[in-house]
Amino acid sequence: MVIPLRGGLSTLALGPVVAAFFARTGIARIARRWRPSDACVLTFHGVRDGSDDDQLLDLDQHVHIALFKQVCAHLAANYTVLPLAEIVKARASGRSLPAQTVAITFDDGYASNHDLAFPVLKEHGLPATIFATAGYLDGRISLWFHRIEMAFARTQMVHLDTVIHGETLKFPLGSREERITALGAVTAQLKKLPTTDMLEGLAAIESTLGMSPAMGPQLPPALRPMSWDQAREMQAGGLIEFGGHTDTHPILARCTEAQQAEEIRASRERLADELGVQPQTFAYTNGKVGDFTATTQRLLKEEGFTAAFTMLESFLLPGDDPLMLPRYGCPSSCDFLEAVVSGSMARFLSLRKILGLVRAA
Ligand SMILES: [Zn+2]
Repeated sequence: MVIPLRGGLSTLALGPVVAAFFARTGIARIARRWRPSDACVLTFHGVRDGSDDDQLLDLDQHVHIALFKQVCAHLAANYTVLPLAEIVKARASGRSLPAQTVAITFDDGYASNHDLAFPVLKEHGLPATIFATAGYLDGRISLWFHRIEMAFARTQMVHLDTVIHGETLKFPLGSREERITALGAVTAQLKKLPTTDMLEGLAAIESTLGMSPAMGPQLPPALRPMSWDQAREMQAGGLIEFGGHTDTHPILARCTEAQQAEEIRASRERLADELGVQPQTFAYTNGKVGDFTATTQRLLKEEGFTAAFTMLESFLLPGDDPLMLPRYGCPSSCDFLEAVVSGSMARFLSLRKILGLVRAA
């Protein structure tokens, strides 16, 4: 049995330089031909046009529309972009995929997917899957990471000094850069906590910063959810399909079994009720190793989900566990896109790993 060597782009400090080298020297074009029967699944979240960038601290969550247009044009001209469901079915039945298959996915369910991304996808005839967080589209909740982002972006406080579940959090908040640093550190801290404790900690930080949870129209446009009408409109066009992404976006491994079961059940039920189709695919929240468990996978199966996607960066290969499928993150440039989807970056990382092992031996 051949075990594929896999490596995350995030491990590579010189990633942008290496990506530009591969994309601009033709190495990526050659690497495309080496790609076996695999598929590359890309992950996006929001899309932004820059009009409310000053209100956001986590710009990386929202690809700029100019880059997204380049990405779509490049994929349409050079790759076979297939609906995710088709790739999942082909994998399950052992059917081979066309050469250089790519799939496009979006997580969470931003209005910007409809307003900005959808017209570009339509222009190029590219299919995509949106993994929607049901309670966010319902307007019942604000996503917890939007609440913490807005608390840090909008607070009048110039420092944070508090203790959350035994952890001291002390950060200056005088400048935008300091707020971005504080947001990253506090978010990482909150992600470690059991969901109930995380929500208590989040509320305590909001209170310390003199903020209440930002909801609906209080959010900057880039953070607002799409409506179910917009979701139905996109689905009716035939290019966009929807998958589950929980009800309130907790990290499932930090939930009790009962909480996980409810998150997955409500996710399936709300999508089915609003869109008239039982969702087959699911994307784990956060999606890294340790963010979901065997219990999560059992519960997904029981609710009828047949495929679940992680954020473990790799190509989707024959024989992959259907409830632990890999995806690549949002490319930071068109060079990066080409280095990733051509497979040249993955080969480079594999080679680097082999050389590292040889050196360590
Ligand atoms: Zn998400």
